[in-house]
Amino acid sequence: MFWADKIAADAKGHEIVNDSKTPSGRVHVGSLRGVVIHDVIYRALKHAGKPVKFLYGVDDYDALDTVPKYLDREKFSPYLGYPLCNTPSPEDTASDYAKYFMSEFLEVFEYLGVKPEVYYLRDLYRSGKLNKYIETFLQNAHLVREAYKEVSKAERPDNWYPFQIVCEKCGKIATTVVTDYKGSEVFYTCKPDAANWVAGCGHSGWVSPFDGNGKLPWKVEWVAKWDVLGVTIEMAGKDHSQKGGSRDVANAICRKVLKKQPPFHSPYEFILVNGTKMSSSKGVGSSAKEIAELLPPELLRFLMLRTQPRTVINFAPNYETITRLLRDYDTLIDKYADNPDEATGEDGKLRKDFMPLFYAQIGDEVKAYNSFDFSTLISLLQIPHLDIKEEIAKRSSQPLTEFDWQIINQRIAAAQKWLQDYADEEEKLVIYLDQVPEKAGYLSPEQITYLEKLAENLEQLSNWEGEELQTTIFSTSKELEIKPAGAFQSIYLSFVGKERGPKAGSLLSYLDKSFVISRIQDVIEMNKSKI
Ligand SMILES: [Zn+2]
Repeated sequence: MFWADKIAADAKGHEIVNDSKTPSGRVHVGSLRGVVIHDVIYRALKHAGKPVKFLYGVDDYDALDTVPKYLDREKFSPYLGYPLCNTPSPEDTASDYAKYFMSEFLEVFEYLGVKPEVYYLRDLYRSGKLNKYIETFLQNAHLVREAYKEVSKAERPDNWYPFQIVCEKCGKIATTVVTDYKGSEVFYTCKPDAANWVAGCGHSGWVSPFDGNGKLPWKVEWVAKWDVLGVTIEMAGKDHSQKGGSRDVANAICRKVLKKQPPFHSPYEFILVNGTKMSSSKGVGSSAKEIAELLPPELLRFLMLRTQPRTVINFAPNYETITRLLRDYDTLIDKYADNPDEATGEDGKLRKDFMPLFYAQIGDEVKAYNSFDFSTLISLLQIPHLDIKEEIAKRSSQPLTEFDWQIINQRIAAAQKWLQDYADEEEKLVIYLDQVPEKAGYLSPEQITYLEKLAENLEQLSNWEGEELQTTIFSTSKELEIKPAGAFQSIYLSFVGKERGPKAGSLLSYLDKSFVISRIQDVIEMNKSKI
């Protein structure tokens, strides 16, 4: 059984799935893993006919703890330590910092067909909905301290209270500590030496902790959210799920103070981009929005789903990764289209192998299409004076339907975007149409012999197609007992001026037969004239 369907099968009663995000800056594609995982759990529960709600929390009472490098340092430095919802927006398009970055992320949700009920922590605090939890945790501060100590070995002084006030004088929240509590008020100090990245103003005083005057530390806040919203399922990234980590601390607080069981939890792994974990504050890697502009929504969902949650996803928007992602998706679609009955189990549902494909869809239906190889598409788009649609129609084994064209147009857009924004020079295919590449002038005598024979053999071909060309290129090297590496190199040097390139048979198939043969002759000529 697919992992999400298993969670759904085990679920009893009304489920509330929750996920959340601190909108500290541009959100990176790595953050989409949790979003898609929770969305799929939600959908699995719906399919299982179980009542379920999907919530997404915006942790906007968290402090601005760093100025992302793409923002004006001078403008935002004074707001370090401020709640994100009290920090100004980088642009006029939003009321504040949190809403600004969240709205960009929510556009991606929309694109991916993810539709949770979104709530903001500022509203929970300011409306007073969390007041009774604030009271409970302040009254039981000793139990909270105990949980920290037992689970994460973190010692808190006896006068430490799980609360932070928004300083009435300087507006910062990251700098304040609460050291006393009496009924309806807490005593706090805004500490000048609060942290090495932010200094408090020194103000201190008694103030009410309720109605948005401050916040619970996030591990405690997590527990309050679970209870006030009735959360029953919430996964967490590996960083929060280590033994003695934040999730363990929150679970312990939930049991100790509220005397309740925490929601169902299972960790999921990171997405590594070029081998490093993506961070939303450093601006490393690619933002969720940028990757959403590159990949069609089903493909972006599929990227998150074809790997099971406990395995790391390695993602880099390079040629290898992108073309493989598309190929894997199309292969699964083809397998499904070839035999939908075989893809379906006795229960009338798709088999486990097809579930990533099923949950990759925006709707509830897998719709088959005639796929067109994405790497060929990338190559074709780089050939000057080529009518791409005519070429695709010519190369397709059967007439293309309207839906096929819909998919193909989407892929053309993706390939163009990739070429424009991601392909490096090495990955680009530059075919020398007007002149022989200079590098083709230094072939070995063996390579010249090979090209002579190849031109002869190509001349005989009645069918100018990729596979057949590939076979001919290969069999010619065998015929002459020349190593394939040298043979293929001579072809790449003759047409793209590089030692390597895409599949040689495909490469030649993009070009006219007469052009290919005359180019080979020109190359032979050029080399011979040098002797
Ligand atoms: Zn202050």
